[in-house]
Amino acid sequence: MEHEFDTDRSFAVRMDRKDPLSKYRQRFYFPPDKTYLNGNSLGLLSEEAEERLQNAVDEWKELAIQGWTEGDPPWFFMAETLGDKISEIVGAEPEEVIATGTTTVNIHSLVSTFYEPKKGRDKILADELNFPTDIYALEGQIELKGKDPSEKLKLVPSEDGRTLDEEKIVKMMDDDIALIHLPSVLYNSGQLLDMEYLTHEAHDRDIIIGFDCSHSVGCIPHSFDEIGVDYAVWCSYKYLNGGPGSTAFLYLNKRHFDKKPKLKGWFGYRKDEQFQMNLEFRHQRDAGGWQISSPAILNSAPLLGSIELIKEAGIDKIREKCKSLTSYFVYMVKEKLEGYDFSIGSPREADERSGHIALMHDRAREINTVLDEKGFVTDFRPPGTIRVAFSPLYNSFEEVWDTVEAIKDIMDKELYKDVETGEQLIT
Ligand SMILES: *Cc1c(COP(=O)(O)O)cnc(C)c1O
Repeated sequence: MEHEFDTDRSFAVRMDRKDPLSKYRQRFYFPPDKTYLNGNSLGLLSEEAEERLQNAVDEWKELAIQGWTEGDPPWFFMAETLGDKISEIVGAEPEEVIATGTTTVNIHSLVSTFYEPKKGRDKILADELNFPTDIYALEGQIELKGKDPSEKLKLVPSEDGRTLDEEKIVKMMDDDIALIHLPSVLYNSGQLLDMEYLTHEAHDRDIIIGFDCSHSVGCIPHSFDEIGVDYAVWCSYKYLNGGPGSTAFLYLNKRHFDKKPKLKGWFGYRKDEQFQMNLEFRHQRDAGGWQISSPAILNSAPLLGSIELIKEAGIDKIREKCKSLTSYFVYMVKEKLEGYDFSIGSPREADERSGHIALMHDRAREINTVLDEKGFVTDFRPPGTIRVAFSPLYNSFEEVWDTVEAIKDIMDKELYKDVETGEQLIT
């Protein structure tokens, strides 16, 4: 693919002109004077999301309690409405997806159902590059079953500290594994795991497998049903642009609808009988049964707009642009930053990575600080990674060009040498 690119700025301008998604950029609000390359941490606000949020605020003002039945959509069905809306881009049926809680809580909720340790088969398999909160949740679930995480949680090691070898993961799918919990995309290097291969291998060994897709939904199409994953969770404030702390999602494969939720709550009750207020819990026989509390309406409403925008643009086109943007960035780094000791910490093949690139350098912390001063919003991950994310709905090829040019300027003028290296708050 690299041969298609050119280092001249006019090339980037031409790419943006040809880009079928370029018109979506103007629907988003950008922090003033910033080049925003952090959509993998917090996606930007769109006009559509703002409108739906404002609508929910107005409904609260004007309908008050009646919003539960008269809102658009009725608040009582907000979680199901969003599950329905997003199901298509994750390859699921509407009943298999629900908008609820937050990612970490949803991991607790699903793992408490699916982790059923038996004699000789009582371990959980995850990986050492997993997002910390996922590991904390898995440890907590093991402890709740009266077991010791240092014995029962097995982590697949990484050879290079950045990526995982899928065959090595499969080699660790031993008879003593009860459950596998992996990310779709590693949050640091952006590596996209082969979910289909891993799921088939797990199921061949009768092991339940679930994925945390926080770094892929909204940027990469999924086919959960076709692959047959048992469960999935994902947050909605990264590529889904739902806003800080917006309501997360969970997917439960329909073959598990009769399993029992263990973190029970009244919003997981059979929807048609919830207000009979029985003390005997009977769960809704679909993903909705794994809700716990009332839907957070104000944290959910923006998603009505932002998911619509993603579907209008088309998740396949989004994925294509995602691959082009990251490939163009990798090409530009190679061409323009040669001799400055940078390396790419993300997989080389665009098909094997998500929407961000891990740019590695010994002075990454200082370089990132100068980038920030110049108005480029990237992020630093210790010890030596700058994560540069391209959100296909609102980032442009020109921004890729400008970013590489800014880094080149920092290196040419050795601006990173003037940076004080105190501890910074990492967000
Ligand atoms: C962003 C992210 C989370 C976030 O968890 P919250 O409970 O929403 O704070 C969890 N897991 C992964 C893999 C993530 O990328």
